[in-house]
Amino acid sequence: MAKIISGQELSETMRSEIASDAAEFHSESGMAPGLAVVLVGADPASEVYVRMKGKAADKAGFVSRQVTLPPETPEDELLGVVAGLNADPSIHGILVQLPLPKHIDSARVLLAIDPDKDVDGFHPMNAGRLAVGDESVLAPCTPAGIIEMLMRSGYDPSGRHVVVVGRSNIVGKPVALLLLRKGRGGNATVTIAHSRTKDLGAITRQADILIAAVGRANLITGDMVKPGAVVIDVGVNRVDDPASSKGYRLVGDVAFDEVAEVAEAITPVPGGVGPMTITMLLRNTVDAARRLHAADAARGAFAD
Ligand code: NDP
Repeated sequence: MAKIISGQELSETMRSEIASDAAEFHSESGMAPGLAVVLVGADPASEVYVRMKGKAADKAGFVSRQVTLPPETPEDELLGVVAGLNADPSIHGILVQLPLPKHIDSARVLLAIDPDKDVDGFHPMNAGRLAVGDESVLAPCTPAGIIEMLMRSGYDPSGRHVVVVGRSNIVGKPVALLLLRKGRGGNATVTIAHSRTKDLGAITRQADILIAAVGRANLITGDMVKPGAVVIDVGVNRVDDPASSKGYRLVGDVAFDEVAEVAEAITPVPGGVGPMTITMLLRNTVDAARRLHAADAARGAFAD
């Protein structure tokens, strides 16, 4: 039976490290790291995510601000809110919760966020910096969380063959780019598979580390995994479950029971990659706060 890599446990450790970094930043700068989360509309899942992010930020000693706008908010008004947060020195991280209502151009909104405050790592400037291998970029949270999970569990991807199933801009592509970087958590040999890949099992069976980021329950079965591989399950899928009070339960992309018989280590769903995503949002916010403060101090010294 595979070892379980618990994102819950790793997150607890990391969040206490982040809380002490936040306290240190506070005592050096006189202010706490500030995270603003903007929610447009009343999508129930987005409301839950935004609440969880705010709570985690408060617990780590940050100042968290939630800006909630009605679903009919015009794009210009949202861009005005983002501009205000860009200019606010007490805010170091800005996150606009996706998806946005259809009348708003998400790409334009993401482009409006100050790249130095883009703690989700979705600004095209940060995507480009990630692609050129910049070690100090604010990397997207889920991919960065996957790398932390591997490193902290003793599975350094360096020199390993990692197969990533999924090529989205949120998970698949950025995790592949992180794995290719020359620094910590990188130096892997990476293969990316997607919906047009032929004979997926023949590809996944070559993986020392297999990352599934698809959104299809039980896509990865035991026969698709090399014995001794490390399996990271990013997928979150609802499946009917009459025994549950909600009528459904959450499962990943990996058929957990049979893959756990073959793999050396595996992440569960829930309690795997999910908690790490919020943890990395906190990590990015402290890092952004430190850099913004250092840049302000340098500007001040120059002006003197
Ligand atoms: P997308 O729908 O944007 O991308 C899915 C990818 O999977 C696409 O590249 C698609 O290929 C590929 N794909 C679809 N079907 C197959 C198949 N049969 N075989 C191989 N590849 C296939 O999803 P996201 O990347 O945004 O999310 C992936 C999953 O991760 C979802 O379940 C999501 O809920 C979850 N997630 C979890 C997070 C967490 O914090 N735990 C955070 C973000 C996402 P193609 O490009 O050809 O269409």
